[in-house]
Formats: sequence, C-alpha cells, structure tokens
Amino acid sequence: MNDYRVLLYYNYTQVEDAEAYAPQHKAKCEEIGLLGRILISEEGINGTCSGTVEQTDAYMEYMKNDPRFKDTVFKIEETDGHAFKKLKVKYRKELVTLRLEDDVDPNKLTGQYLEPKEFYEQIQREDTIVLDARNDYEYDLGHFRGAIRPDIRNFRDLPQWIRDNKEKFMDKKIITYCTGGIRCEKFSGWLLKEGFEDVAQLHGGIVTYGQDPEVQGDLWDGQLYVFDERISVPVNRKEHVVIARDFYDGEPCERYVNCAYPPCNQKIICSEENEHKYMRSCSHECRTHPENRYVQEYGMTEEEVAERLAVIEREKETAAI
Ligand SMILES: [Zn+2]
Repeated sequence: MNDYRVLLYYNYTQVEDAEAYAPQHKAKCEEIGLLGRILISEEGINGTCSGTVEQTDAYMEYMKNDPRFKDTVFKIEETDGHAFKKLKVKYRKELVTLRLEDDVDPNKLTGQYLEPKEFYEQIQREDTIVLDARNDYEYDLGHFRGAIRPDIRNFRDLPQWIRDNKEKFMDKKIITYCTGGIRCEKFSGWLLKEGFEDVAQLHGGIVTYGQDPEVQGDLWDGQLYVFDERISVPVNRKEHVVIARDFYDGEPCERYVNCAYPPCNQKIICSEENEHKYMRSCSHECRTHPENRYVQEYGMTEEEVAERLAVIEREKETAAI
C-alpha cells in the first residue's frame, strides 16, 4: 500500500526548441517507467504523473540535474497504484490555455504569493474577494468556502468573464487559487495587467494547502477534482463537508462520470444507482443516441433500453403530480 506516488509540478522556464526536446523527455520517462501527462513548451514544463517511489525519485533526480528544471517544486501525493493508464508527453505553445491577446510571462509579472497560512487568514477578511480560477465542474465538486465561481465552461473564457464583471472586483483585494498553482501564475499576472492593483495567489495551489501541517485544508468544502484516474481527492483534513449534488436527484454525492454519448461527454455527478438508472446520460437525446456507449458496454437490447426509459418516464410523471 501507498508505495506509489503522484507528482504534480510546473516550471515557467525557458526551453529552447521545446518541440524537439519533448520526444527526448518522453524517452526518459519511458525508460523510468513513469505514466502521466506532461506538457513541454518554450515557456516551460507542466506535468502530472505517477510511478513507484523509486520511479518518481529517479524522475525528480533527472529534473534536478537539468539546469532548466533544477528549481522545479514537486507536489508529492501518496497513492496505492498508478494514477494514469498511459504516458503522454506533448509539445504545446502555451502551458495553460488562456488565449491572451498579449501573453503574460509569470517570471516578470504575477500576483503576490500567499503561503497556505497567509491564504487561510486573508480569505476570511471582508475586503477580500476569492476567485476560483478553475473550470465549473471542478468548482462544483469542491472549493474554498465563499469563493466566487466564474460562470464559465473553460478556463480560457475567464479573462472575458472578468471584463464583463469588473465592477464586482474593483477596489478589493483579489485572491485566486487553482489545483497546483500554474493557472494562477498567469491569471494573476493578467489581472495585474488588466488594472487590478491588489492581486494575490495561493502558492502551490490547493494540493499544497491540503498538505500543509498547520492549516490542514481548513475552509475547503468538498473534494478536489484531479486530472487523473483518481478523479477526486480529499483536501480538508479537519472536516469533510459534502457540497456536490447528484445531477439526477439532488442528493449529496461526490462521484463523477462522463455522459455516455461520446460527443457530449459532459461530466455528471451521480450515484452508482443513478448511473445505471439513467444509463449514464445527461439527457434523453444522449440516452437514446445510437452511439450511446453505456448501451454498447452492457450490450443492452432494444427492449431493455425501452424498459429503462419507461422507468425514467414514470418517475417524471410522478414528480409532476
Ligand atoms: Zn450528454
């Protein structure tokens, strides 16, 4: 048990000819036996990967010996197996997609760093606005108490949303947070550039906050959405408040599945029971589409599908009365 680890890290650093370097990095990871997803760009590296204690040690050693990556901070989580099925090392133009007209270099411009204890104290102040810099489905599973949920589907839509809601934030201290800190590095820099004067970010992200021995994840509600097989992990070690709700019946629930109609793929919070009842689909259209993966997976006959649909229909009628 717990002889595996998940590493989460990023480093905004200059990587020359990153496109040519990416396959070399991949070859090294393969040699070590690491699995995960790593992005390499001219502006640096961003990765999350898993392996045994020996494998992750070997990788961190490899990174430390490379002058470009030697100061990389690794967030280390213990786990009981690989958190990924494959290894993907890809070249990207941007490490995080913000689609800024004017790019921000976090090494030159970024919000003030707050360590977990400072963050914990600051977010409880009246003159402070706490902004979740993640996607809506991440927020819905868990977030800091009182944090604002930008009404956006994708992180790249965040700048426009800020512009549309500017009056809410002017004259306040803005504190942003994200999973591991990388999204805030750019986003907080962008906020400063946009004219907001008092901008700070949670250094090391939610993962570091949850591991901090003093705050122990306090003031976090729910679970943390992670981009690996674990899907969600705990943050608050003092108390666990469930805030997510089942998509179908509104009951407290912290389990995510993806809609079984592949082009939709919407993330749905639901119990195992409801997953089967509603054939893991977000709508009637997705449920009845010929390409529905749930129907294929369970090899359901037309009669069986019709039966399941009839149950849902009956329920709707009962609810309407
Ligand atoms: Zn769907």
